[in-house]
Amino acid sequence: MSNCKIYLKPRKEESLMRFHPWVFSGAIQTIEGEPEEGAVVEVYAADKRFLAIGHYQVGSITVRILSFEKVEIDGAFWLNKIQRAYAMRQSIGLFDLKDNYTFRLIHGEGDNLPGLIVDVYNGTAVVQAHSIGMHESRLAIVEALRVVMGDTLKAVYYKSKGTLSFKGQLIVEDGYLYGEQSDGIAVENGLKFHVDWLKGQKTGFFVDQRDNRSLLQQYAKGRSVLNMFCYTGGFSFYAMRGGAKLVHSVDSSAKAISLTNENVDLNFPDDKRHKAFAEDAFKYMERMDQNYDLIILDPPAFAKHRKDLRNALQGYRKLNALALRKIKPGSILFTFSCSQVVSKENFRLSVFSAAAQAKRNVRILHQLTQPADHPINIYHPEGEYLKGLVLYVE
Ligand code: SAH
Repeated sequence: MSNCKIYLKPRKEESLMRFHPWVFSGAIQTIEGEPEEGAVVEVYAADKRFLAIGHYQVGSITVRILSFEKVEIDGAFWLNKIQRAYAMRQSIGLFDLKDNYTFRLIHGEGDNLPGLIVDVYNGTAVVQAHSIGMHESRLAIVEALRVVMGDTLKAVYYKSKGTLSFKGQLIVEDGYLYGEQSDGIAVENGLKFHVDWLKGQKTGFFVDQRDNRSLLQQYAKGRSVLNMFCYTGGFSFYAMRGGAKLVHSVDSSAKAISLTNENVDLNFPDDKRHKAFAEDAFKYMERMDQNYDLIILDPPAFAKHRKDLRNALQGYRKLNALALRKIKPGSILFTFSCSQVVSKENFRLSVFSAAAQAKRNVRILHQLTQPADHPINIYHPEGEYLKGLVLYVE
């Protein structure tokens, strides 16, 4: 049990009483003991009532809650949490999906493990810590993953150098904590792709677009598709399977374009329908002709912090206005925002302004979000980060 205790100011316990999993620095009255960053600490109300237990951090979020009960954070704790995350996915049939071996097993706060992400690619679990506490627990987490996943777990790759780089003093080594390198080819809904968990963005692939890619496939038949911000080409190979007439993938990163070409080739070798371009999205759309009748806009987060919100909303408006001006009559636009600080309403408002600016008749066909293996903890609404609209543009 932890020997560091954090006492909150009067009435600052309210959010914890509603199971919100963070304690902000401004809520703290006193800290008993001298916790090191990453230590397990107990949190108490001003009247000395026990509230929760969590990982101590230096920064505006000072504690990330692991449990609202007074429990030991030991092997049994990790096993229980990871088992419950696994059981949820099993009970919703995620593991019964035909030919799908790519999924998120732990989604931070959504699985009551703030600061921890685990994505699984054909038996390799890629573990990403976003806090020192999770970093220090990594071996216990691997042990629990091995018990829960049994033979289906072939390897665990730890990838946190990037996510913990803001902690300058900490030396984080990425590498295998169990098993070894495989061919790095994973399968999502029967489509193959290379995952570069060593160097790729996030854990190597954007697992969160799986359901939205499937929906796109249904709309692709006979269409000329532009996959803007393609990264490793996820939407492109689904569009091809859906019977698109042509697919153009665009990303400003040359590395992303070569990954896209490799992935399309893995599934559709020598298919002349696909071409990829390394170019800036805005430049490409300014100069492109008006022949696309299905466009995907899946940009990186335009706002990482609240202070960037205004600029981000303008960015979404500009980007969508450009696409809406150029898209053919009778087209479909899939447009996304993955910025956590941009709400559903704000994003929709940006797209609304874009439609008005482009003077197009636009209907919303679908309102999209993140898939079920990226669950949102009801007590932590900030966890809803992915927003998408599917539009019919006359
Ligand atoms: N749609 C992708 C994920 C997109 S991630 C998928 O399904 O996997 C965002 C991508 O946008 C990154 O690959 C990044 O290189 C690219 N990007 C960032 N700024 C860009 C710009 N100005 N123009 C084009 N691409 C850009």
